[in-house]
Amino acid sequence: MAPETADQSATAERRSDLAAKLAAARARVDNACRAADRDPAEVQLLPVTKFFPAADVLALVDAGATEFGESREPEAGRKADEVRTVTGRLDLRFHMIGQLQRNKAKTVARWADRVHSVDSAKLASALDRAVATARDAGERDSALEVLIQIGLDDDEAKGRGGVPGDELPTLAAEIAAYENLDLRGLMVITPLHGSTEAWMAKAADIQTRFVADHPGAVELSAGMSGDLEIAVKYGSTCVRVGTAIMGDRPLISP
Ligand SMILES: *Cc1c(COP(=O)(O)O)cnc(C)c1O
Repeated sequence: MAPETADQSATAERRSDLAAKLAAARARVDNACRAADRDPAEVQLLPVTKFFPAADVLALVDAGATEFGESREPEAGRKADEVRTVTGRLDLRFHMIGQLQRNKAKTVARWADRVHSVDSAKLASALDRAVATARDAGERDSALEVLIQIGLDDDEAKGRGGVPGDELPTLAAEIAAYENLDLRGLMVITPLHGSTEAWMAKAADIQTRFVADHPGAVELSAGMSGDLEIAVKYGSTCVRVGTAIMGDRPLISP
């Protein structure tokens, strides 16, 4: 009989490929931790499944993954709903890691456990209100975990998202005061130009000062397929890995 969901199951070949790539990515993180004299348990590997179907997420669940990064609405919400419905599991968590417009706050508040990309007071306010609404409607039962995305290069900050360093204390204080948001730390995407190592050192420096003011917000989401080793060396607690696990993303959305 045909499955109830729109997606077919992943093929056996795809499933074993995903399991192998997930394990290989985890081994990279573990090696980077050993090289940096860090405990591998401190660093989460977050598979990024944007552009890929729910069937791939389900294959990763079977391979042991429980948390996933997504970046586009409405694809992300539909996929999270489908995976939760098919598995019936309450322990699976979905992270919104991509740039987020205020008008998407309402839908993201329904499915996201954590948002990595909060970069303005207006977005934080919209998310706080959207989570309150979702809680009232019984669509979620907890505050939304948030990370503030910091922009490392003031010229690039607008383009790739992220608050400039001098605006971070004010935004962090505002978020900490919201009842429906739970400030957990910072997120960074290193600029494409210049030395990744130098950008990550700058991020680590900003984080050290930030944690002094917000001792509970120790997360640092940093590092992707290409630079996770450097990010782990500079204190990342969550590497967001897409391509190295999933393969190349299609150029056009499905
Ligand atoms: C897509 C994406 C990633 C994953 O990037 P890869 O280079 O494919 O590992 C990480 N972080 C963010 C914010 C993304 O949008």
